Amino acid sequence: MKSEIANRIQELKKEKNAVVLAHFYQEKSIQDIADFVGDSYSLSLEAAKSNASIILFAGVHFMAETAKILNPTKKVLLPDLDAGCSLADSCDYLSFEKLKEQNPDHVVVTYINCSAAIKTLSDYVCTSSNALKIINSIPKEKKILFAPDKNLGRYLESTTGRKMLLWDGVCVVHEAFSFDKLSKLIRENPGVVVVAHPESTTNILDLAQFIGSTAEMINYVKNSPKRLFIIATEAGILHKMQETVPDKILIAAPSIEENTCACSECAYMKVNTLKKLYDCLLNETPSIQLSEETIWAARLPIERMIQITENHV
Ligand code: 13P
Ligand code: SF4
Repeated sequence: MKSEIANRIQELKKEKNAVVLAHFYQEKSIQDIADFVGDSYSLSLEAAKSNASIILFAGVHFMAETAKILNPTKKVLLPDLDAGCSLADSCDYLSFEKLKEQNPDHVVVTYINCSAAIKTLSDYVCTSSNALKIINSIPKEKKILFAPDKNLGRYLESTTGRKMLLWDGVCVVHEAFSFDKLSKLIRENPGVVVVAHPESTTNILDLAQFIGSTAEMINYVKNSPKRLFIIATEAGILHKMQETVPDKILIAAPSIEENTCACSECAYMKVNTLKKLYDCLLNETPSIQLSEETIWAARLPIERMIQITENHV
């Protein structure tokens, strides 16, 4: 049964011609009232083509900024401006500008999990679903500076065979999976398939049979003939994944934390609540504010990403 607040959000959406875009890591009740739930890349495309007057973004700050950059005439609302990201927070403008200046011969590729300001310093943006395509589209002889996720960077180095200059950032959620506990879980569940997000550390990825973005992980589990899976990413994904494969068994990969539910949750994603979404839509604040200059400079590397991704066969 839908809650009262969920019904009120649905009414406000109609009244204000608003659309709710949610990431797979949002809490269940938020995913359930969203018009679209997806990974970072598909959410960006959804935002870009939206005809709504208001885009209410149920995700983190860099995602809402990307929506504003791609559809700047819309009002883009984020229920809590403190919905950050450890990767985005690790990469400040001045330090990154300095590193770029010290390496003028490097092509700059940034993971979408960074601020709009960092995107203005980038040649290409990528997400976990298209990072491989973006790196492979850059001529082999070119040097690459990749930021801010060193784990995704290492994964790309190992899959493309190219050495890159890596920024030293990590996702606090994917960094926290326990290799020992995961190895034990695999031993205890013969035949289990491990599916991991590339923000995870190399030793976790080495245990995985499939590595991909959140949407790709769901597709893989859906299309696999296997029944038992360990899912190494933020636990919010289990909601849509289990809905997609009601007959399969999904186990959240264990984290190093002792006193939690043994799965991993992103504290930044979880600052959003249904109540905050309601208040935000009702009052049309807080909204994403970016200068024209930032929007146009940050848009170029994102558009390059979309062009490469959509034209890739
Ligand atoms: P994707 O949904 O693009 O796989 O990204 C995961 C993530 O960590 C978003 O913050
Ligand atoms: Fe950032 Fe990691 Fe949270 Fe995604 S899961 S928003 S990468 S801290």
